[in-house]
Amino acid sequence: MQINASQLLQEPIGATRECEVNEAADIISDGKKYAVQGKCHLLRTQRSILVKCALSTEVELTCNRCLVQFRHPLKINFEEEYLPTVDVMSGAPLPMPEEASSFTIDEHHIIDLSEAIRQYSVMAVPMKALCDKDCAGLCPKCGQNLNQGKCDCPAQEVDPRWSELTKLL
Ligand SMILES: [Zn+2]
Ligand SMILES: [Zn+2]
Repeated sequence: MQINASQLLQEPIGATRECEVNEAADIISDGKKYAVQGKCHLLRTQRSILVKCALSTEVELTCNRCLVQFRHPLKINFEEEYLPTVDVMSGAPLPMPEEASSFTIDEHHIIDLSEAIRQYSVMAVPMKALCDKDCAGLCPKCGQNLNQGKCDCPAQEVDPRWSELTKLL
């Protein structure tokens, strides 16, 4: 996920580059590597390089209801500004950006997209992952995956506070 920007940094404002991304990386910190693919557009601006990426991958998630692992497509789209830390011509260090959260281009003029890809991937993962919006979940009694068929447990137990009432009905 690294792009050498030394050439682009020496070009006039408005110069652009297109890059292809095709790399496997641990993007959601689950210890697994997922193939990330897509395109990035780089634009030389007055003070930085503006990077716009449209990437996609498929991650493995665990369903919140039935605990089954399933593949979930992920779109990773972002636009971030990368600020140089050294002057590309002289090699002299540049003042650090005021915004602490800014992404930077290292002293070898390398733009490392890994951190941005990681941050945007984590944001793109649904908070409550479901294998299917109609996932039936697990039986609370026997743990059977109800997507694979009904279990033999008696149908939903009635709250004892209502039992007297049901007798009347
Ligand atoms: Zn499920
Ligand atoms: Zn059951």
